[in-house]
Amino acid sequence: MRPEYREEPCKVALNRVKGMGFKWSLNPYMGCVHRCTFCYVRAFELRADRPFDDRYGRSIRVKTNIAEVLRAQLARPTWEHETVAIGAATDPYQPAEGRYRLTRACLEALRDASNPLRIITRGPLIVRDVDVLAEAARRADVAVTFSVPTLDDDIWRRTEPSTAHPRQRLRALKTLVDAGIRASVGMAPILPGISDKPELLEQVVREAREAGACGVWANLLNLRPGTREHFLEALADDFPEQLPLYERLYARKAYLPAAETKPVRQLVADLTRKHGIRDRRTTRLAPEPEPEQLALAL
Ligand code: SF4
Repeated sequence: MRPEYREEPCKVALNRVKGMGFKWSLNPYMGCVHRCTFCYVRAFELRADRPFDDRYGRSIRVKTNIAEVLRAQLARPTWEHETVAIGAATDPYQPAEGRYRLTRACLEALRDASNPLRIITRGPLIVRDVDVLAEAARRADVAVTFSVPTLDDDIWRRTEPSTAHPRQRLRALKTLVDAGIRASVGMAPILPGISDKPELLEQVVREAREAGACGVWANLLNLRPGTREHFLEALADDFPEQLPLYERLYARKAYLPAAETKPVRQLVADLTRKHGIRDRRTTRLAPEPEPEQLALAL
């Protein structure tokens, strides 16, 4: 089924967020055609009284004027140049970006304002914007995270029905790192009993290292209402043998207890050390340091 695109201008571009590692988020699109079975955005959609089930990702809002609105927000005297995170609630490089180029226009606005930014994506289309990202990274702190929870073909196909192959993301990461842009891999979400096997985790860390990732972090699946119903339904179809495990692990809570998450995170941390993951960029694009004020000798 072809998704419907609704061209709807926005009044604000930057949204204040709480409880995350950043204070401002920017989403040129709402809804995501990638339709990952585990998508955490389904939980927000349920709270906003929008479709979170199988209809999620079938209708995409396109904020056609977002770059102009963003430029106006960035130009306000009260704007403090805090970090803006792009892609926290939808993939900014989903296919619509090829046509609308809104993420690119927002990057140009952030570059012109010398504003720090973060991007999280599963979309290799980001390589199209390596020129803007490089210019932005010369003026302010820029970091890109590629979500690569697994490189296993079967798990990828079943859980991320419409994304590009994760190896394409690693190739995109290499292009960015070679251009001097800091790019890392986020292994998220790792699915208990499915993608948490040590050999699968090591495969991602090893190939992330080969691609030149500056860092690797991991997070396990959360199942908040909205995400929970859809994910468990997909699980029953794709991995029915795992249902009892999930019913036990997520019986009462959306988040796994530390006893379940810590060993997996520890293993990934050990693997990053073993494979020597660190910032190995030969060129590190960064803003020029502020010139020091010379004291006048009186
Ligand atoms: S790419 Fe991200 S936003 Fe899009 S469906 Fe997947 S998890 Fe959700």
